[in-house]
Amino acid sequence: MIYIYCPKCGKKLQVKEEVKFCMNCKKPYFNHPFSCVEVLVINEWKEVLLLKQNYISKTHWTIVSGYVNNGETLEECVKREVLEETGQIVNSMEYIQSYYFKPKELIMAGFIAYVEKQPFNKTNEVDDIMWCCIKDVNRYIARQNNLSGVHFDASMHYLNQK
Ligand SMILES: [Zn+2]
Repeated sequence: MIYIYCPKCGKKLQVKEEVKFCMNCKKPYFNHPFSCVEVLVINEWKEVLLLKQNYISKTHWTIVSGYVNNGETLEECVKREVLEETGQIVNSMEYIQSYYFKPKELIMAGFIAYVEKQPFNKTNEVDDIMWCCIKDVNRYIARQNNLSGVHFDASMHYLNQK
């Protein structure tokens, strides 16, 4: 995100050594991306958790994702987002790889989160939720303008090599 004004004092930023800088606060404002997690949730029956979020796609299903809060680690963010969006408790997780999502300037850390199947408890952001056999995921998962499909592929590649 490129800043024009200082988010702290509101003064217009100057450019100092090619970096936006607030002369008042003596603070640089780099062109940072937003930090997110992208999480493939898998249960003990090897089923994948898919979400229907109409504000993202009216036709396809996505996986758990969310913005990292300032003050939490990526692992804490994974646990929080999975619990908030689905009601599932993460027992363990593995980092797979990261993705850059240009349309929204996101740097996304992709994880697999392992859970024991619990009753769903979804937020209002989620319109529907389901467990899906790995072999059927391709029928549902979003691949346009969304990284759910790409992270599913990378996760399957990782699990198949284990
Ligand atoms: Zn300032």
